[in-house]
Amino acid sequence: MKKLSEEEAVQVTKCCLPPLDDYLEYVKDIFSSHILTNNAKYEIRLETELKNLLNVPCLALCANGTLALQLALRLLKVNGKKIVTTPFTYVATLSSILWEGGEAVFADIEPDSLCIDPERVEECLRKDSEIAAILPVHVYGNACDVNALGYLANKYNVKLIYDGAHAFGCRLNGDSIFRFGDASTASFHATKLFHTVEGGAIATPDIADMHALKLLRAFGHIGDNYECVGINAKMSELHAAMGLALLPHISEIIEKRAKLVKCYDELLHLDEGSLLRRPRLRDGLEWNFSYYPVIFANSEMLEKVVSALVSQKMYPRRYFYPSLTKLPYVNSPPCPVAEDISSRVLCLPLWAEMDTSVVEKVASIVLNAMKI
Ligand SMILES: *Cc1c(COP(=O)(O)O)cnc(C)c1O
Repeated sequence: MKKLSEEEAVQVTKCCLPPLDDYLEYVKDIFSSHILTNNAKYEIRLETELKNLLNVPCLALCANGTLALQLALRLLKVNGKKIVTTPFTYVATLSSILWEGGEAVFADIEPDSLCIDPERVEECLRKDSEIAAILPVHVYGNACDVNALGYLANKYNVKLIYDGAHAFGCRLNGDSIFRFGDASTASFHATKLFHTVEGGAIATPDIADMHALKLLRAFGHIGDNYECVGINAKMSELHAAMGLALLPHISEIIEKRAKLVKCYDELLHLDEGSLLRRPRLRDGLEWNFSYYPVIFANSEMLEKVVSALVSQKMYPRRYFYPSLTKLPYVNSPPCPVAEDISSRVLCLPLWAEMDTSVVEKVASIVLNAMKI
């Protein structure tokens, strides 16, 4: 494994790439076929492989994870409606709702898991009968309380769409995390655990959804049959090829990340009584080690750690800061838990090919900065 030179900047992550020759095999074939997109061979192959891997009846690839959310809202006919969601997520969860003409109602998060709190969700549902859906996020790959949320969706007769952008490969009580709710979405952006450079997918429990999803992502028509208003959210053959080349390496990638996470945990002494903690993983979760978030005692300590790391050309990211309730174009009552956690959570650098010497360096800078 290549040692990182002292001068090389360390980002929060580094995109994983398949062996170049594996990718080029696909590219050569794509070049000789002259077929570059439009529900073609490699897109269909990746779709089938992911459907099997994630163990879902229906899976449609699309151009990115944001469009996946937008198509899921349209598929379930909750675009333009009020939707309960979490303020502790990447902004794309929110913007997909707003871009589709809807309104976001924020429910605060659980302080230990950092996923949406079902009790707060129920408060929103009880107060507002116009709410049409719940859009929770398996944040950092941690599982939402799917039982409580499923119960609420049923009780209040609203749709349930999970943003699974961080949760590729996660399992809950032995079951793929993409099997819960009316739909789940994935992001295959280059920085995500598994990626197609840009890409995403929608998974649903009903194979019959595939027809509607194909229409929605390709202008609303199949051949000369124009059925509905659609958009262009297709995945190209070159993108699908990246996914196909990377997919055989995914368990190895997860194993490598698991080792690095263990190494961080040990070096940072993340035990009881530590000034640092990680989100508590849901019982029964097989996690994918997709991020390494640590929660500091206060934001001053976080800021000290960030400056110490940045001075050594190490760039952690404040995923997710600020709480979405604080965005200038949002007008929401406060969500105190999300706002507090957002101010003091930091994702430390983590990628599969990272050398343990980098983990050691990051951990020692973090610990030293906390002492000052
Ligand atoms: C990355 C991400 C998205 C958006 O995915 P893109 O593929 O980048 O459009 C949506 N939700 C969450 C929580 C994300 O982290």
